[in-house]
Amino acid sequence: MLHIAVIGSGPAGYYTAEAAQKKFGTDVRVDIIDRLPVPYGLIRFGVAPDHQSIKAVHKRYEAVNLTENVRFVGNVLVGRDVSVEELSQIYDAVVLATGAPADRRLGIPGDDLPGVIGSAAFVGWYNGHPDFAGLDPDLTGPGAVIVGNGNVALDVARILSKSRNEFDGADIVAHAIDRLEHSGIRRITLLGRRGPHQIAMTPKELGELGHLSRATPVVDIADFPPEGDDALLEPGMRKSVSHLRDFAAQKGPAHDIAIEFDFFAMPVAIEGDGRAERIIVEKTHLDADLRAVGTGERYILPCHLVVACIGYQTPPIAGVPYEHGRGRFASTDGRILPGLYCVGWARRGPTGTIGTNRPDGYAIADLIAEDVPRNSGKLGRPALDALLDARGVDIVTFRDWQKIDAAEIARARQGAPREKFVAIDEMIAARGTPNH
Ligand code: NAP
Repeated sequence: MLHIAVIGSGPAGYYTAEAAQKKFGTDVRVDIIDRLPVPYGLIRFGVAPDHQSIKAVHKRYEAVNLTENVRFVGNVLVGRDVSVEELSQIYDAVVLATGAPADRRLGIPGDDLPGVIGSAAFVGWYNGHPDFAGLDPDLTGPGAVIVGNGNVALDVARILSKSRNEFDGADIVAHAIDRLEHSGIRRITLLGRRGPHQIAMTPKELGELGHLSRATPVVDIADFPPEGDDALLEPGMRKSVSHLRDFAAQKGPAHDIAIEFDFFAMPVAIEGDGRAERIIVEKTHLDADLRAVGTGERYILPCHLVVACIGYQTPPIAGVPYEHGRGRFASTDGRILPGLYCVGWARRGPTGTIGTNRPDGYAIADLIAEDVPRNSGKLGRPALDALLDARGVDIVTFRDWQKIDAAEIARARQGAPREKFVAIDEMIAARGTPNH
C-alpha cells in the first residue's frame, strides 16, 4: 500500500489524485487535505461565476472522490493543525497542490491605499471566498482602473460591466450581485504596459467583451502595428488581436459603460487623500527585448477602484524550499526532495489553463513511483485521524461537503445554480451532524 497526502483540493490536487489512482490502482490511498470545508479551490473561487461550463469540470473531481482510495479532508490548515514534517512521517509522499492564491503587489507608491485591491481579493469577493467576503469594494465610480492585460483582467472588467440579468445562470454570490447592481462605474480602463501584440488574453474571453448589454470596448487603432504584422502571431494570439481590431473599428452607439484599453501605459503611482482617487500613468515604448520602457510622458486617470490583475503567488510554508523571485516552491520538475513534491501553480507559477494541471498531476505520480518504496510501514489515514482528533480539529469529509453542496443548491436564487455560503462557520453548520 502507498499512502499519499495531497495538500489543496483544486485542479492540481484532484488531477494528482486521479493520476495516482490510475497508476497505483487499489494499492494507493490518497487524502486530499484542504484548509476550507469545501473542495475544488480555483474552480469554486477563481473561475468566473458566469463561466459555468468551465466549472463543470468539478464533476470529474467528484468522481475521483467517490472512490474508496481517495478522500477529502477539509477544514485542516497545514502549518497550523498539522505540519508538512508530520505529514511526511505519516504518508509515503506529500504533494503540495496549494495553487497561487496570494496577490502580488504593484510595487508603486500608493499601492497600499484603500481602494487598491489585488485580483485574488477582488475575484475572491465576487466568488464568495471566506477570506474576502467582507472586502466591501468601493464601486461608486465613475472611474475604475484594471492593471494588467491577462484573462483575469478580462474577468474583472466583464464582471464590473454586467447587468443583473446577464448573471442569469451564474453562481456569483448575493453580496456581490447586489453591490454590482448599484455600481456607479462608467469608465473601466485596462492598463497594458505593453502593446496589443503582447496581451495575455485568449480569444474566447476577449470576444465576450463585444457582447455585453451595457458596456462597449474602446480601442485606439493608433496603438497597433501594421495589420500585416498580425500574420507573424501564433493563431490564438492572431484571433485575440483581430477581436481588438474589431473593437477599434466599431462605429455603433456606445453603451453606458466604456471599457477602455490603454496600451503602452504603465502605472507609476496611486494618489489620494486617505484612499485611491487617481492613478498616474506613464506612456511606454518597447525595447529590443519587447520590454516596456517609460517615455517620461504621464497622464492621470481619476478612479476610486484599482484592481491589480498582474498574476499571483504561492504562499510559502515553513520548512519548504521556496523561490522568492518567482513566488513558488523550489523544485526540480515538481520534486522538492524524494517524498515531497509540488504540482500545478505551486510548481509552475500561475500560468496555463485548468487542463495544464492534468499532465502535471500525472508527472508527479510517475515521480512518486520512481522515488517511493511500497509498504514502508507508514500508516496514512488512521495516523492522520488520530493526530487531528487529539488536537481537536473538526474535519469535514466529502459526505459532509455533499450536504453543504445540497444546502447551497437548495437556497439558490431564481436562475442561479447555487447560493454559496461565504463564511466557514456557515459551511460547517450546513453539514449538520458530521459524517466521519
Ligand atoms: P497573466 O496571464 O500572467 O497576465 C498578467 C498581466 O499583468 C500581463 O499582461 C502582464 O504584463 C501584466 N503585469 C504583470 N506585472 C505588471 C506590473 N507590475 N505592472 C503592469 N502590468 C503588469 O495573469 P492572469 O491574468 O492573472 O492569469 C493567470 C492565469 O490564469 C493565466 O494562465 C490565464 O490565462 C489563466 N486564466 C484563464 C482564464 C480563462 O481561460 N477563462 C480566466 C482567468 C485566468 P506583461 O506581459 O508585460 O508582463
